[in-house]
Amino acid sequence: MGGIVPLSLLGMDREELVALVAQAGEPGYRAQQIMESVYRRRVESLDEISTLPQQFRDGLARDGVTVGTPQIEKKFVSVDGTVRYLIGFADGQSVETVWMPEGDGGEAGDGSEAAEAAERFAEVPGLNSSGAKAQSQNREPIAALKRCATQNQIRSVDRHSPDRASTGRSTICISSQVGCAVDCQFCLTALLGVKRNLTAGEIVGQVCAVLKDQKVSPPEDRINLVFMGMGEPFLNYENFVKASRLLVEGVGIAERRMTVSTAGIVPRIRDFGGEAIRPKLAISLNASNDALRARLMPLNKKWNLEMLMAAARDFPLRTREWITFEYVLLGDVNDAPEHAREVAELLRGMRCKVNLIALNPGPGIDFKTPSPERVTGFQNILREAGVPTFVRRPRGRDIYAACGQLKRTVEVATSPEPQMQPAFRAER
Ligand code: SAH
Repeated sequence: MGGIVPLSLLGMDREELVALVAQAGEPGYRAQQIMESVYRRRVESLDEISTLPQQFRDGLARDGVTVGTPQIEKKFVSVDGTVRYLIGFADGQSVETVWMPEGDGGEAGDGSEAAEAAERFAEVPGLNSSGAKAQSQNREPIAALKRCATQNQIRSVDRHSPDRASTGRSTICISSQVGCAVDCQFCLTALLGVKRNLTAGEIVGQVCAVLKDQKVSPPEDRINLVFMGMGEPFLNYENFVKASRLLVEGVGIAERRMTVSTAGIVPRIRDFGGEAIRPKLAISLNASNDALRARLMPLNKKWNLEMLMAAARDFPLRTREWITFEYVLLGDVNDAPEHAREVAELLRGMRCKVNLIALNPGPGIDFKTPSPERVTGFQNILREAGVPTFVRRPRGRDIYAACGQLKRTVEVATSPEPQMQPAFRAER
């Protein structure tokens, strides 16, 4: 990193802000004023925190304190409305953050049709009051998912809640690290290696920057959040957990609207289950047996399927919560009927659903996208085995914003694939 890293308000929690104002000899309620300004109003400079006395702001500035808002360096808009942001930090590093506006079918929670089905279920009057606690009593959402799945009832947004009028159900996909160390063989981010962890402020800052740019604000606007951008959140665990708390308590995004996806860092999955405030859990399964998974995801050599499935089974799910398993389908590699049957076996009896993602291609990725028939065939086998299974719609493939395509605009924008070029529309 190097250089003096200024102290930024973004990323500080209530306790830290209380300590900061106490140190300056200011009354305790100033901490709340800073929380409000930074996380809810999303100011970008100390000057804008007009609730603070000028001399306190001057003092903070003298001490090298800044708000620490990351900068949107580039912005690409897809034909499907998806926006890919390149967001830069104080030390010159950058990550990608993706905005997926509501669209045909809607992106919700974890960006899948399944989550939308679940949300619709949760809104049925009389069914969404707090109810059964124990996991075993909690069968309704899965039943609802299965109904939606089999009856193909997924529709776009149309319902009654007044806040829908503004933005519907948009999803922000955020990054947790610059690059990634996990080395999944089908993922473009892996090619970068890992440069560094993001701070909690840099994780929250991506959300603040995008909300501001899109002129939306939770909770009035319904915003879902997925930790599915660059990096492995569970290899930056402390900062990720702190960021999720700040997103809930500061920014005002509900826990049930956030999902974190892990490649399978087993000890952290166990820790995560014990967090008081936490997003929902998604696990990137991507293979149906150890031999295949170890080939596609080298981390399987450290934490194999038995360990991963044990952690998933032990995971303390909340009322109306389930685990999502993501499965990237790679043509003629992991997409055969017998693979689907193996997956069904692995997941038997678990409160979960599966999101299938047909490979999003990229330069340097030696796999191919399966045919739509293969994808449907795989889905049908899982559904027939009783596993709610959904196919994730690719978003923003034309601008390299889809799953596994985040590799930082600098590289992609300066040397785009020929067929990608016409769709680029840089706005900054
Ligand atoms: N490191 C975390 C978060 C990244 S989430 C994780 O692995 O879960 C990104 C999701 O996209 C993961 O489920 C991953 O398996 C999937 N993915 C990676 N590369 C992809 C590609 N080329 N096409 C489609 N999905 C991909």
